[in-house]
Amino acid sequence: MKRIYLQKAKHQVARSKTIRGINRQIVLNYVREQSPISRAQIARETNLQRSTVSAIVDELQTAGLIEEIGVGQSSGGRKPTLLKIKAGTPVALGIDVTPRCISIAMADLTGAVLDQEVIPISPNKDFIRLQITSVISKIIKRQSGITDELEVGISIPGIADHATGQAVYIPYFQWSNWNISEEITREFGLPVTIDNDANAVALAELWFGQEKIRKYKNFITVLISEGIGTGIVFDGQVYRGERGAAGEFGHMIVGANAPVQCSCGNYDCWEALASEKATIARYHKLVNSHLPSAGMNITQLISLANIGEEQALTALKETAKYLGIGLSNLIVGFSPQAIVISGSIVKAWDLVSDQLQAITEKSIRHDLPKPVLIPSSLGENPTLMGALSLVLAGKFASAS
Ligand SMILES: [Zn+2]
Repeated sequence: MKRIYLQKAKHQVARSKTIRGINRQIVLNYVREQSPISRAQIARETNLQRSTVSAIVDELQTAGLIEEIGVGQSSGGRKPTLLKIKAGTPVALGIDVTPRCISIAMADLTGAVLDQEVIPISPNKDFIRLQITSVISKIIKRQSGITDELEVGISIPGIADHATGQAVYIPYFQWSNWNISEEITREFGLPVTIDNDANAVALAELWFGQEKIRKYKNFITVLISEGIGTGIVFDGQVYRGERGAAGEFGHMIVGANAPVQCSCGNYDCWEALASEKATIARYHKLVNSHLPSAGMNITQLISLANIGEEQALTALKETAKYLGIGLSNLIVGFSPQAIVISGSIVKAWDLVSDQLQAITEKSIRHDLPKPVLIPSSLGENPTLMGALSLVLAGKFASAS
């Protein structure tokens, strides 16, 4: 039961255009989830008029979002034409800003990447803005079949105001109020949606994750990279909080004397104790190297742990202990159905999952439900999938 807030409601009164938009999304969702499906089947399932469904299907075909794939069985009379989501139409341009690089990719409605470029990061936000717009121009020029459906999604490792489109603050570069969204809209006339990377990943799991995750209405995603970000999915949508600042659990206090300083400056945050940089710092300490530039990255460290190298394994297990403590706090506070973990640690899942399970189980009191811990299946680049999902999810559901 959702309370109706009058302040908001006066802008949301269902006008015929709104209803048509909702019906369009419902039809698109039927094609996505029950494909191959015919117009008649959609009309039966939705109780929409057959003519309404046909008009919407025509519109979606013209936009390059769905296509006909031959005929199905007839229950008497003409055989129905079956529909499915069309692959290959560029509809989403995702911009994934990370502390190391920026990936810019064009994808179709299924989330398949059609074209991609990566640019190195620079601390100069105006220079980066110019780099981004120049790569967008190149990618757009290379693509054929672009329609009015094309929109942009931006994921940033910081606070983004989803409602206003403002990149409020990126701690790694100390960028405040970065006007990347307005710049892209001004230059290309494209609508832009921006969000924090962990929120974007949560959205990607909700729409493009494993089937079992997509069935959960309440879950939390934990993104472990240079920092730790969490995304909260509550009642089938991402909970963002005021000005998009919810889910900053990377800064909850879970210990003391962390091996590295947190991006906020403290030494007791979850991020300082359980992020990738914490694991790397522990490894360097164990092998008596105080030079992080002596060159171990997290992928190499995990490869070593996977072949049983002792120090890499010890560093990883110490990180897993603090990861488990933080997860326990989330479970106690939210009682989610599941926690989905993404980042490089997924590649070491067999080495850490028992430990994470054991620590988190201790925090579940009485006979309360046990949330499942699931390694993400979004692949090598979950935050890029997040950036694309900011657009793609909006094609299937209201963007709020
Ligand atoms: Zn912190």
